[in-house]
Amino acid sequence: MSDVLNYNPDCLFCKIIKGDIPSNKVYEDDLCYAFYDIDPQAPTHFLVIPKAHIQSCGAVTAEDAALVGHMFQVIAQVTKELGVTDFRVVSNCGAQAGQTVPHLHFHVLAGRDMTWPPG
Ligand code: AMP
Ligand code: ZN
Repeated sequence: MSDVLNYNPDCLFCKIIKGDIPSNKVYEDDLCYAFYDIDPQAPTHFLVIPKAHIQSCGAVTAEDAALVGHMFQVIAQVTKELGVTDFRVVSNCGAQAGQTVPHLHFHVLAGRDMTWPPG
């Protein structure tokens, strides 16, 4: 169980961070939390989320710059630990782009061939 900065009681990922909804943890520190996606789109598919409620990439401010950089360092570390060298990082911002949970998250997908452009 962790505290969430700007906790949003209606937010699924805030509840996951607090431990009110179970998740399959990959990594955790003071700033962020990573867990496997419940509906994986690749053999390896996990999400990295900040422990602060930030709506999306579109809501990131200059104050969040170090946090977002840290999340990418965590992605590099966790993929290494999982033995993953080739992977894709995706962040959907807004409904038209496919965002369904309005709490900033980076999808990390690996373990299969990927196409470009994404659908
Ligand atoms: P997005 O659609 O880009 O906002 O991504 C949200 C992701 O959260 C989707 O890939 C969902 O499968 C995933 N998701 C939703 N609920 C849960 C949950 N309880 N545990 C893990 N992943 C979840
Ligand atoms: Zn949230």
